[in-house]
Amino acid sequence: MGEFDLIARYFTRPAARAVLGVGDDCALLQPVPGTQLAISSDMLVEGRHFFAGVDPFTLGHKALAVNLSDLAACGAKPLAFTLALALPQVDEAWLAAFSKGLFALADAHGCELVGGDTTQGPLNICITVFGEVPVVSGKSQALLRSGAKTGDDVYVSGTLGDARLALDALRGTLALPADLLAQARRRLEQPAPRVALGQALRGIASAAIDVSDGLIGDLGHILRASGAGATINIAAVTPLLASRAHADWASAGIGDDRQLECVLAGGDDYELAFTAPASAREAVQAAAQSAGTQVTRIGRMDAEPGLRLVDAQGKAFIQRFSSFDHFQ
Ligand code: ADP
Ligand code: MG
Repeated sequence: MGEFDLIARYFTRPAARAVLGVGDDCALLQPVPGTQLAISSDMLVEGRHFFAGVDPFTLGHKALAVNLSDLAACGAKPLAFTLALALPQVDEAWLAAFSKGLFALADAHGCELVGGDTTQGPLNICITVFGEVPVVSGKSQALLRSGAKTGDDVYVSGTLGDARLALDALRGTLALPADLLAQARRRLEQPAPRVALGQALRGIASAAIDVSDGLIGDLGHILRASGAGATINIAAVTPLLASRAHADWASAGIGDDRQLECVLAGGDDYELAFTAPASAREAVQAAAQSAGTQVTRIGRMDAEPGLRLVDAQGKAFIQRFSSFDHFQ
């Protein structure tokens, strides 16, 4: 099967909202008046972002999910995406499963594939997503990293750390009971981008980011961009390790320290961390409810730069976990 047959068979569907989709030199999108385009790219490299031989259905899902997560962090509504794909060889069973996983998530979010590039090479998947953000009275409604103010509350959505547990288990450095592994692995391989929550937080959150490299590191980006600091209560974040009872993890041999490390520095969570003024607490909970996603208040922004962790008694907690960085 040649390049063009491959594109036609696995990656071409009739254009939905796009003016022109796959097949010409460019795709055409018609921006809605009064909106801005939000654009983001994420690349997944075999051996670096996913294990060789991973289920292609879940890989298709994840490749788009990590991109939709960036749109979610900006409060953007997904519109379309492009797919640049390097494949070592044409494997039709792999392509069928990959495109099925990809389109299942795309359809769930009304985000259409409008173009891309296909080449032979080591397995590498790069997606660029396009989303839409309203402009109201000349002001963009996009959520940025830079809007957090001293006194704002700090929140995180959903649960954290499960993906890290799965990664450690699949690498063989941690033994997990089968049920815990299945749950954790789902979070690693098929993250659910918080697209509805991001949009619901427009006009409420003061700053937002998606948690891809670990909570501490990603919160650090909000702090630097906003020129402020934060104090996080570890008693509020520790229970966020999956939706399981603390004791379940302890009885699986995962102690307090490890639990906290997974929550604070795990990575691959694709939850949203965000800030909002204390006056917006009810609005935040209403947004969370409308999006069907739990959010937890974990701390407060303060004027002193840097991130401080405190225990339930307000005592400083010294942490030694660091977030993921490709070049460190
Ligand atoms: P060009 O040579 O002009 O870059 P290509 O021959 O690479 O165009 O691609 C032909 C058409 O197929 C284009 O519309 C391109 O956007 C689309 N396309 C190529 N690869 C993919 C892919 N993996 N997924 C979706 N569309 C693709
Ligand atoms: Mg090309």
